Parts: sequence; C-alpha cells; structure tokens
Amino acid sequence: MKIRSAEFVVSNTDVSRCPAEPLPEYAFIGRSNVGKSSLINMLTDRKHLAKISGRPGKTQLINHFRINDNWFLVDLPGYGYARTSKKDKAAFQKLIHRYFRERRQLLSAFLLVDIRHEPQPIDLEFMEWLTGEGIPFALIFTKADKLKPGAVSRQTDGYLQAMRNAGWEADPPFFVTSSLKGIGKDEVLAYIGEINQN
Ligand code: GDP
Repeated sequence: MKIRSAEFVVSNTDVSRCPAEPLPEYAFIGRSNVGKSSLINMLTDRKHLAKISGRPGKTQLINHFRINDNWFLVDLPGYGYARTSKKDKAAFQKLIHRYFRERRQLLSAFLLVDIRHEPQPIDLEFMEWLTGEGIPFALIFTKADKLKPGAVSRQTDGYLQAMRNAGWEADPPFFVTSSLKGIGKDEVLAYIGEINQN
C-alpha cells in the first residue's frame, strides 16, 4: 500500500470523542519507549507525525490519524512505565479497555515489543485480555537493527515458543521492523491493505 496522505485528526482522552467516520481502524500499542512513535512515522513516511517521546509515560492520549482518506491509524498511550503512579495506571487501563470495547471499527491491534526482550508479563497479560475480548492482534518486533541478522529469527522464534509454553495455541501474525533502517514497513502496510479489502 502506498501512503498518499496522512493527517492528524484528533487527540483525546475520551473514547466517545474519537472520530465518528465509519472508517476501519488499526491501533498501535506497547510499552513506553518500545519505538511506537518512530514506527508510526516510518509507516506514514512522515518525520514528525507521531511525537517521539521525550518523557515516557507522560501523555495518555488516543491519537487518530487519517490515512489515504480510507482508514485510521490510532496511536494509543504506552504502558508499563515504571514511574507511573497507581492512579495513572488505573486511568490508563480504564481508557484502553473502553477504547477496545467500544471502537467497533477496530479491525486489528498491533502490539509492539522490543525484539531484544523476552516476553514480558505485562505484554502477555495484555494479549490475553485482547483475545478474551475477541480483538485480533499482530505482534510487531521493533528495533531489529539492534541485533545481528542471525539473532533476529532466533529471538522471534524464542518469543513465539515462550508464548506457546504459556498456553497460546496459535502463533499471532508477526512483523520484524526497524524504524531506523526502514525494515518491515511494506509488510505491515500490505497486511493492513489486505484486511481493509476483506
Ligand atoms: P515510544 O515511546 O514507544 O513512542 O518510542 P519512541 O519512538 O519515542 O522511541 C523510543 C526510543 O527508541 C527513541 O530514543 C528512539 O530513537 C529509539 N528507537 C525507536 N525505534 C528505533 C529503531 O528502530 N531502532 C533503534 N536503534 N532505535 C529506535
């Protein structure tokens, strides 16, 4: 899929104020600092569409971007920032749960994980929650440039194996990306294009 246009639409903390247009949407989520803003900028060919976070865990906004006038890319707040207060964590959970339960046009979530890390309990719990809610998700491994090529597939194989060991029956679709090197962009966009056509 070619990106012809990418426009910021709205930022808000209220699910009922997300855009009313009935376009399909795809939500990007992951731990703070996982590389979500960089990935969104890579996917859309815009250097500053999503803000690269100077202060992780600070903003808890749902950001909608309209792509090619026919789908929304949604930038959800990062989670798991160690210094977030209990109150902020609870507010985050409420916001995210409401978002996923109420946005009927959401066709897939993309859960970002740093390719260097083993599966984190917070990510596995979130995947379980999504699955329990019937929301499809794909995994995006970020920062692949940080590993040598041979280590990339070892790391993704290990990640999926750990998920199977934790009781997952089917591997989720997954993508290896590097925003620094422009890796994985075409694959993620092609996947979105395919879902959009069905
Ligand atoms: P966010 O908090 O998930 O939105 O993450 P950011 O996009 O703000 O990135 C967090 C940090 O990781 C920044 O210092 C980025 O420059 C760095 N980063 C993001 N993507 C990549 C990548 O693909 N490769 C490398 N080496 N660093 C990255």
